[in-house]
Amino acid sequence: MRSFDELLKESSTLHGHHCAGQILGVRMAMVGCREVGIDEPRGCKKLIVYAEIDRCATDAVQAVTGCSLGKRTLKFLDYGKMAVTFVNTDTRQAVRVLAKDDARNLVPLYVHDAANSRDAQKQAYRIMPEAALFAVKPVAVEVSAQEMPGYRGKRVQCAECGEGINFNREVDIAGRTLCIPCSQEELRSNGHANGAKTTNPKVLLIVGYKKVGKTTLIEKLIPELSSRGYRVDTVKHHHSDFPVAVDAVGTDTWRHRQAGAATVALATPTDIATFRDGASSLSLDQIISALGEADIFLVEGFHEEPRAKIEVLSDRYDERLCVADTHLLAVVGRTASDEAVPGFGPDSIKPLVDLIEKKILGRLFTGAKNESAVASQSETYSYSFRN
Ligand SMILES: [Zn+2]
Ligand SMILES: [Zn+2]
Repeated sequence: MRSFDELLKESSTLHGHHCAGQILGVRMAMVGCREVGIDEPRGCKKLIVYAEIDRCATDAVQAVTGCSLGKRTLKFLDYGKMAVTFVNTDTRQAVRVLAKDDARNLVPLYVHDAANSRDAQKQAYRIMPEAALFAVKPVAVEVSAQEMPGYRGKRVQCAECGEGINFNREVDIAGRTLCIPCSQEELRSNGHANGAKTTNPKVLLIVGYKKVGKTTLIEKLIPELSSRGYRVDTVKHHHSDFPVAVDAVGTDTWRHRQAGAATVALATPTDIATFRDGASSLSLDQIISALGEADIFLVEGFHEEPRAKIEVLSDRYDERLCVADTHLLAVVGRTASDEAVPGFGPDSIKPLVDLIEKKILGRLFTGAKNESAVASQSETYSYSFRN
């Protein structure tokens, strides 16, 4: 590998200016290449880097390694983290280099006579020991065939906008092949547009007859989705006309509502419950809008809503709740070979969540949001960290 000064000069030229990010990025790239056993990254065809931020340092990594988006050797994961993962596709060695947040606070320990804080940072990042600047961790990264630079896949057409889609980025929604933006639009407009949040709530209905295991399935989906980094909110459709027990007649919250409060929050040291009137007249979209900013809402019930849904089946019932429903993604429980949608056993939670990630959450890379996630078995998913 060429000298630090030489690499820094080149990266500053490519980047357009000389900044602390260039120093950090050059050092980061040198560490990453060394750790995966690549002495001269330029022109070597076995290095792939995953950058988790679009900032100055990313340009430096590109300059040093020669990896780029256009060559498909630089992958951008929009996580907003100052980290880059270096993968030697030959040896499968991979290392994630994270720039430590507190490095900036250590600058005064190394530089005392700089003209300003920016100069101090630049001087310090040159001389600070590697361990003070970076956390370096070996990771397991599976780069699938379709993520490799030379991959030639078939191009398909989006059924909505007609544009061509490469590299298996299409999403299948209710039997239609869509590009990612159109699939997100489709999921958004599947509900009633009025009163919906401007963001794009991802909603999955868990439907089925009474006592077939809907709640049990939700209990299993929540920890699996959470472990993959998603915040999950739930909605439970309750058929009773009576107030639920926690807000029963005579309680203080009930009295607040009787007095005319639109919404009452019951706050305990550990929980907050809110009660409001008129839930029966609210649409599912309005109910979801009133909840937090979850990545996905699991809704038990509301099977008539034109939303993505999973039907839970059991031997207790022969007939089906969702017959010829184009929003049905999968069935869980008893499965028949004539199903038009995939069937899963009640404990096949990981493959089911893989499907939910692809169809609802539009994620191409399962598990990458959470470093401890286990790699997916599915060939479509390509990138994951394992400790
Ligand atoms: Zn810069
Ligand atoms: Zn499209």
